[in-house]
Amino acid sequence: MSARVIDGKLVAAAVRGEVADAVKALVASGKRPPGLATIIVGDDPASAVYVANKHKACEEVGFVGFHNELESSATEDQIGDVINRLNADPAVDGILLQLPLPSHLEAGSLTETISPAKDVDGLTPTSAGLLSLGRKGLRPCTPLGVVELLDREGVDLNGSNVVILGRSALVGKPLAALLLERNATVTICHSRTKNLQAVCCQADVLVAAVGVPELVKGDWVKQGATVIDVGINRVDGGLVGDVDYEAAAEFACCITPVPGGVGPMTIAMLLRNTLAAYGESS
Ligand code: NAP
Repeated sequence: MSARVIDGKLVAAAVRGEVADAVKALVASGKRPPGLATIIVGDDPASAVYVANKHKACEEVGFVGFHNELESSATEDQIGDVINRLNADPAVDGILLQLPLPSHLEAGSLTETISPAKDVDGLTPTSAGLLSLGRKGLRPCTPLGVVELLDREGVDLNGSNVVILGRSALVGKPLAALLLERNATVTICHSRTKNLQAVCCQADVLVAAVGVPELVKGDWVKQGATVIDVGINRVDGGLVGDVDYEAAAEFACCITPVPGGVGPMTIAMLLRNTLAAYGESS
């Protein structure tokens, strides 16, 4: 293996430290700390762990956490009432509706009711529209985390060929928009893309966000490319990404591991988004 490892845990810790310092300064100057509200519906164990991690991260940086738990039988009206109350609460800067929701609920219409000013997940249609128009707004956390890793690694995006595997609203599409803002030449691939390997081989920066274990092989990576693996796949042997890490590392100049690459960045960027939302409201 020759590639440098991009340590997402280290970068995430740095971002969290910066947020914590900013909160300390706010509180020292007599201002209230930022507040992040989570809403969890039902008892999905994975969601419970994600939300607990977000709360722990919140506490560590000095935010106030507001946790809202609803029964799995909750109606859209009941959840809508909670969202409306949080939208109106001046102590709450960010609202996070944990997905997935129980199957009788429509995630899209509920997410839409979150005030864009408090949409720290950056997933409402308003936030997506602002991003697509290149206007100011809150951006989705995982794509923000990818850009932060590239920036801190010193990767020059200006004019470089970036290939993104995956066109989801959560990762691929918003990441493409963020990288276009940074003057990259962006190609988005998906399940119908022809000659995927040949397209990937053109990439100065290759980002995989497909959810297919080790889809990207070593000989899909141009010599000296930067490889960012967003994938998180549970397989018998544990967690793997969308990239065959060992093989890709033979060609790449730097690469994110799974776990410990993009994963830790998502919560760090959620904290930064909440601080940004606070800044806009105060
Ligand atoms: P998604 O909504 O399922 O989208 C997957 C995308 O990959 C789709 O655009 C799909 O194409 C494309 N795709 C699937 N198989 C492909 C193939 N064989 N060749 C080329 N493209 C293919 O997934 P997602 O939510 O974006 O997540 C992607 C991965 O990132 C998952 O492993 C997920 O767990 C992980 N993830 C990680 C984080 C984190 O914090 N690190 C956050 C979010 C997601 P079509 O559009 O044509 O179907």
